[in-house]
Amino acid sequence: MLRKVAVLAVIASSLALAKPNVVVLATGGTIAGSGVSSTQYEGYQAAVTGVDKLLQAVPELKNIANLSGEQVAQVASQDISTDIWLKLAKRVNSLLKQDNVDGVVITHGTNTMEETAYFLNLVVKSKKPVVMVGAMRPGTAISADGPMNLYDAVLTAGSKEAVGKGVMIVLNDRIIAARDVQKTDSITIDTFKAPIFGYLGQIVDGKVVFFKNPLNKHTYESEFDISTITKLPRVDINYGYAHDSGTVIDALVASGAKGIVHAGAGTASMSEFVLPSVEKATKKGVAIVRTPRTSLGMINHNMEVADDKYGTIAGGTLSTPKARVLLMLGLTKSNNPKYLQELFFKY
Ligand code: ASP
Repeated sequence: MLRKVAVLAVIASSLALAKPNVVVLATGGTIAGSGVSSTQYEGYQAAVTGVDKLLQAVPELKNIANLSGEQVAQVASQDISTDIWLKLAKRVNSLLKQDNVDGVVITHGTNTMEETAYFLNLVVKSKKPVVMVGAMRPGTAISADGPMNLYDAVLTAGSKEAVGKGVMIVLNDRIIAARDVQKTDSITIDTFKAPIFGYLGQIVDGKVVFFKNPLNKHTYESEFDISTITKLPRVDINYGYAHDSGTVIDALVASGAKGIVHAGAGTASMSEFVLPSVEKATKKGVAIVRTPRTSLGMINHNMEVADDKYGTIAGGTLSTPKARVLLMLGLTKSNNPKYLQELFFKY
């Protein structure tokens, strides 16, 4: 009997050893939110629960990983700043260098999660999994989605199959590449989609299943190194509409923007009212990237607008906010439109 107990203890401890080591970095958002009633899905307060409480709320996590948590920020994600991006990315890079860390999970608000995810996808220097997770309902709600999302995220971050797939977002059972993901609905739980590229994978009954690999370069293949960067160049967004004007572009340039992403109607068009301001801006060295106002679509070089003539850059298949992220990083190296244009078809 005693021998049986001893053998079971050895098996149990070797199983514990076999569990992956996952670090959870918390930044706030609805997953750390609290409402005044169990039926409040909106109007609750985001970013109030600390990382320890988040982990304690899901005791099942202990069965799938050796976990530790750190609070990197505590904000709703509309308040995420480029300073937080840099702090977070540097922490992820230093954790993933350690042999005793197998993966990182980042809890984050859903509003700007796709931007943080894409930023990390371009600057994390590791093949180890980095998984971002959030929730559409606060922890106090009936059917809060945070606990299951967190469980799935830890499972994904600890899985061998997730190695080398870049930064991923896990919500609502799905795994989506940072490059491809878009929040498509401001309220519903089934909001994160990859409309052009499709999902990377899915979590079913505690099993992580991948359908494909991301195609664009990311993480360990990326040319961007933020280890010495303390500030990112300012890049703003201009929105195209019928009978628009160059007023906003002129003001952005005058106030020091180094780059502008123009979300143009249709295939990222630029109207005759806007083009003179665009030309003035690019002549001053301000980089201008064209993305579709529709949020989906392929924008090729010299398609709809003569990029060579105006010195503008086509955004490829990147959404407007993600084009801004890539442009900021590109501008840390050069404002040469040829160099910047190449980035938009690589990443
Ligand atoms: N306001 C929240 C945030 O992005 C919404 C969310 O977390 O989903 O932080």
